[in-house]
Amino acid sequence: MAKPEVDQAACVGCGTCEAMCPECFEVRDDGKSWVICEDCDKCEEVAEACPVQAISCE
Ligand code: SF4
Repeated sequence: MAKPEVDQAACVGCGTCEAMCPECFEVRDDGKSWVICEDCDKCEEVAEACPVQAISCE
């Protein structure tokens, strides 16, 4: 488990993270993904799927 972090300057709002883990990522009206959980068991997997490497796992 790890707490995800999104680099919002890099995020392009593609929605991949939200599709993979809607409990932890929410793409809002600003076109950026927001982290909405404290721990994500799929963090590394989602981070690898992000096309612009905007997600890190602490
Ligand atoms: S997968 Fe990456 S670029 Fe796409 S919405 Fe999530 S953080 Fe943003």
